[in-house]
Amino acid sequence: VELKRQSLNQTVRTILPLLQADAMKQNKSIEVHLGEIPNVVIDRNEIKQLIINLVRNGLEAMPPGGILSIKTFKDNDGVVLAVQDQGKGIKPEVLEKIGTPFFTTKDTGTGLGLAVCYSIAQRHNARIDFKTSTDGTTFYVRFNL
Ligand code: ADP
Ligand code: MG
Repeated sequence: VELKRQSLNQTVRTILPLLQADAMKQNKSIEVHLGEIPNVVIDRNEIKQLIINLVRNGLEAMPPGGILSIKTFKDNDGVVLAVQDQGKGIKPEVLEKIGTPFFTTKDTGTGLGLAVCYSIAQRHNARIDFKTSTDGTTFYVRFNL
């Protein structure tokens, strides 16, 4: 783990080709809006893994034609990465177990994606939260300045 103050936007850009390829294979697309944000203290490899896990979940939650959005922006309490999908939302019975290692609703899922995200966020003093409805889900990862 190598925490240093660096660009979150650049970290997103380096994994975009990989994520775009994933999306294309599923006939989905990814929109990106990288805001003007200050550098944050991150381990680039860990944050790449976190973003990949959230984006893959978002893609898997959507039917073909779906658009996934990745945004970065700054607000009063920090820098935020938001990953929004157009899936059907997280089911109530799933909500209580989300992030528990090995919990998956997918035939070939590992159930480790979110657990890894939460532990990476914890090492960064970052907070993960989400909004979910039948129109889709948005995960927010908030970094301190
Ligand atoms: P996996 O993707 O291998 O199932 P995760 O830890 O990444 O494991 O996710 C656990 C479960 O949380 C998924 O199986 C799914 O039911 C639910 N989930 C995660 N992200 C989303 C999302 N964006 N929309 C709907 N459900 C989700
Ligand atoms: Mg996953």
